[in-house]
Amino acid sequence: MADPHQPPSSKATLGAAPYANNDPQMQAALLKLVLACKGRHPELDKHIQRLGVLTTEGAAKGRVAAALDLAAALIVAQGLLRGDQNATTRKLADLLDTRTHRPEFAQKTRFLRNRLRDATTQEEIDWALSELVGLITILEQRAAYKAESMSGAPDFRAMTLLLDELQLPEATQLAMAPHRAQLARPQGRAAQVSCVRELAKCLATHFRPPGLPPHADEALGLARQQLQHLVNNLTLPTPLADDQARLQRQIAGAASAPELSAAAQALVQLLQTSQGTSRLDISELGNFLKLIAKRIEEFKSYLARSDETHVNAVESATSLQRQMSGQVSVLRHAVDDENNFSALKPAVIDQLESLETSINTFVRNEEIRHGGATLQMNAVSGRLKELESETQRLRADLKAQRILTLIDPLTGVFNRLGYSEAIAREHARWQRYGGSLSIAMCDLDLFKNINDRYGHAAGDKVLASVAELLGTHIRNCDVLCRLGGEEFAVILPETTIEGAKIAAEKLRISVFESKFRFKHAPVSVSISVGVAQFRAEDTVMDVYERADRALYVAKAQGRNRSCSEQDLSGELDPDRLGAVNG
Ligand code: GH3
Ligand code: MG
Ligand code: MG
Repeated sequence: MADPHQPPSSKATLGAAPYANNDPQMQAALLKLVLACKGRHPELDKHIQRLGVLTTEGAAKGRVAAALDLAAALIVAQGLLRGDQNATTRKLADLLDTRTHRPEFAQKTRFLRNRLRDATTQEEIDWALSELVGLITILEQRAAYKAESMSGAPDFRAMTLLLDELQLPEATQLAMAPHRAQLARPQGRAAQVSCVRELAKCLATHFRPPGLPPHADEALGLARQQLQHLVNNLTLPTPLADDQARLQRQIAGAASAPELSAAAQALVQLLQTSQGTSRLDISELGNFLKLIAKRIEEFKSYLARSDETHVNAVESATSLQRQMSGQVSVLRHAVDDENNFSALKPAVIDQLESLETSINTFVRNEEIRHGGATLQMNAVSGRLKELESETQRLRADLKAQRILTLIDPLTGVFNRLGYSEAIAREHARWQRYGGSLSIAMCDLDLFKNINDRYGHAAGDKVLASVAELLGTHIRNCDVLCRLGGEEFAVILPETTIEGAKIAAEKLRISVFESKFRFKHAPVSVSISVGVAQFRAEDTVMDVYERADRALYVAKAQGRNRSCSEQDLSGELDPDRLGAVNG
C-alpha cells in the first residue's frame, strides 16, 4: 500500500521547484491551478488526493507547499495547461495578480495574463513576459513615487518581497545584490528609479534567458524522453524501419517545442502509415490467396477438360494441385496465426517461390511430354503420308494392271474382257438415254493362209497393222476391240444400222486398199464385216449373235464385204461358207 502522506512517485518531479513558496496567496493561486487540471492526469489526481489529506490533517505549511510544488511540476512536465506551457510565466503572472489592485493596472494585467494563457509559441510567451516585467517595473516605480510623496522616504517593499519570493538562482541574486543594497540606502528619486530599472533588467534576463526557460527546457526533455521511448518501442512493418530511425534522430535533435511538436506529428503520421501498410499487407495477402484459389480452379477445370487417356498429364496436374493446395493452406494458417504482417512477408515469399517451382516443374514436364507427343505425332503423320502415297501408287498400279487386263498386248486395243465392259457400259447408257447403238464384227479373210504362207510372226504383224488401220478409220467415241484370233469388234455408239453399214464398208475398204508387203512382195489382206443394231429388249449377246451371223453371211457371199442383220434372211450355212472359201 502506498503511504498517502508520502508524495506519489513521479517521473515528472522536477526536484526543487519553488512554485508554492510560503506565500499563502501564491499557494491559493497554485491550488486553484492544480484543481483546474484535475482529471487530466492520473498521477495529478493522486497529488490532489494527497493535498486533500494534508489540508484535512492541518499539516504544516511547508508540507502543503511541497505537495503543491510536486503537483505544479507534474502540470508543467505533462503540459496539462493548454496554451500555458511555461509555468514560470504563469507564476509570474499569478504573483503580479496578487500585487495589482489598482484598477488602471488590473485591466492591463488581465490582458497580459490572457495573452500568456493563450500563447502557443515561444515568441508570444516572450512578448507577454517582457510586458509583465515592464509592468512590474512601472508598479515599483509608482510605489517609490508614492512612498516618497507620502513620507518622504521611498518604500520598495513590494519589489523586495517579489524578489524574495521568486527565490531566484544564486547568479541572478548576485547580479541583483548591489542594486538591492543601493535601493535600501536613502537616496534621490532618480537614483532609486535607476536601481529599480537595473533590478527589472535582472528579472527580465532571468525570465527571458537567451535559450529556453529552465522549466520549459526540462519539460521539453521529458517530452522528448517520452517520445523517444514511444518510438523505440514501436513495432512497425519492415518497410517503415528507415522512417522509424529517421524519426528517432529527429526527436533526439529537437531543440525546441515546435521542433518536438513536428516530431510528434511525424510520429502520428508514421503510425497512420503503419496501420495503412498493415491494411495493405492484409489486402495484398487476401488478393494473393484469391489468385491462388483461382489458379487451383483453373487447374481443376483443366483436369476436367483433359483427355482421359493422358494418364500422365492428369497424374502430374493432380500432384501439382495437391502441392498448391498444401502451400495455400500453410499460407492460410500463417495469416491466421501471424499478427505481424512484416514477419509474414518472408513466409509468403517462401511459399510463392515454392509454388513457382512446382508450376515450373509441371510446365517443364508438360513440355517434355508435349514434345514427345509431338514427335510421335509427326512420326505417325509421316507414316500416314507414306501409306497414303503408297496406296495411291498401288491404286494407280492396280488401275494400270486392270487396264492391262482389258488390253490386247499384240494390237494395243481392248481385248474380249475390254469389249465386255465397254459394250455393257454403252448398252446401259443406250438403255437410259436412248438413241441408237450398233456393233460391227470384223474377221480377216482366209487368215490361216497368211500364217501358213508367211509364218505366224508375219501374221501377227498383219494383225497389228489391221488393228491400227481400223483404229484410224473409226470415230473417237467408237471402241475397237480384238475379240480373239483375227476377229475384231467395233462398238458404234449413236449409230443406226444404216450408219453401221457405212462404217463397215469404210473399214473394209481401208483394209483392202492397204498395201501389205512381205519381203517386198505384195500380200493381199481383206476383212469381212457383219453389223447389227441394238433393239428394244436386246441383250448384249443378242446383238453380238446377229452381227456375227451377218459376218458369216458376208463370208458366205464371197468375203471382202460387209453385211447387216438385214441380210440375215438369206444367210447361208456357215459350214458351207467354209467349204466355199476353203
Ligand atoms: P475365213 O476367211 O473363213 O475366216 O478363213 P480363215 O482362215 O481366216 O479362218 P479360220 O478360222 O479357219 O482360221 C483362222 C486362223 O487365224 C487360224 C489361226 O492360224 C489364225 N490365227 C488366229 N489367231 C492368230 C494369231 O494370234 N496370230 C496369227 N498369226 N494367226 C492367228
Ligand atoms: Mg478369218
Ligand atoms: Mg476367224
